[in-house]
Amino acid sequence: MQIEYSLVPDSQRKSLPQDQSALSFGRLRTDHMFILDYADGAWRNPRIVPYGPLPMMPGAMCLHYGQTLFEGIKAFRHADGELYIFRPDQNARRLNHSASVLCMPNVPEELQLDGLLRLVDVERAWCPSAPQSSLYIRPFMFATEDALGVRPAKTYIYCIMLSPSGAYYSGGFSKAIRLLVTRKYHRAVTGGTGTAKMGGNYAASLQASEYAHKLNADQVLFLSADNNYVEEVGSMNHYHVRKDGTFIIPSFNDSILRSITSLSVLEMAEKGLLKARQEEVELERFLDDVKSGEIIEAGGFGTAAVVSPVGQYVLEDGTEITVGDGKVGAYSRALYEEYTAFQTGGKPAPQGWLFKVPRY
Ligand SMILES: *Cc1c(COP(=O)(O)O)cnc(C)c1O
Repeated sequence: MQIEYSLVPDSQRKSLPQDQSALSFGRLRTDHMFILDYADGAWRNPRIVPYGPLPMMPGAMCLHYGQTLFEGIKAFRHADGELYIFRPDQNARRLNHSASVLCMPNVPEELQLDGLLRLVDVERAWCPSAPQSSLYIRPFMFATEDALGVRPAKTYIYCIMLSPSGAYYSGGFSKAIRLLVTRKYHRAVTGGTGTAKMGGNYAASLQASEYAHKLNADQVLFLSADNNYVEEVGSMNHYHVRKDGTFIIPSFNDSILRSITSLSVLEMAEKGLLKARQEEVELERFLDDVKSGEIIEAGGFGTAAVVSPVGQYVLEDGTEITVGDGKVGAYSRALYEEYTAFQTGGKPAPQGWLFKVPRY
């Protein structure tokens, strides 16, 4: 499909702030976005246009019945000055998985990638170069049909917007977070929408986050609906490291999102770069093993932070369980360093992980 370009004149383009150290996550926007419309059973009218409001009727079904989904991807500027996107093919595939869960139409992966690469090419001046900074890419899709009554909508918009973002760990990789283990709130259940990256799952996690903040924790560790198994962190998968250095990620089930960071860590293990595997993680045994020192590190995996180590688990009765010495551990640090070196060009990445942005 031919992509139409309506670009902002060069003289009216905005640019990155001079001081890249002040970039926060997700605030800034670039000059353009990519849009695709779905109607009459087909995607049509792919275009790159100035970033701005999207026309929508008050009866748009996404506003009432929640058919919305999104992805999160990062592009990096390497020392050669070129831009490289980390595994966008995996995100395109996962977006279609989310779409299937929400009874939304799939978007051909080639079309998603074409739109993404061309948009990033147009906006290449917006990609920061400071260490660990990135151009964050947010594809998303929502129902636009103006109709009341619960059923899958017949029209949709697929859009990609961009946000230049600073290093997640601006003070170096040293922050260990506190995770609330809650038996009271759940983000997803068996047979639900937990494997889809959708707005509703995040809305469903907000009460739990507020509750965590009240109990002096940063984020929430969600459990299975029966409270017997560790599931995930709500915007990150969970991991722990056993004494022999093996990373354990809870087995994917239909209430855990398949993190591309987790998948990549598991692929690194297949290549012999580290030890990692998935298994069901029983909560009581997990906490006992943290207390006894059988488990030496733990944390979360996700695109935003890559690795987010946990220093303490906080229980609802106020008990605190410290992981190792409560600080960022050596295995988590080594993984963070190797993974970000792949992303930023410090080390050759495994075959197929980086997509160089063509100059169209
Ligand atoms: C996005 C997300 C993750 C992390 O996935 P990545 O592909 O590694 O960014 C984990 N859990 C949930 C619920 C998510 O939405």
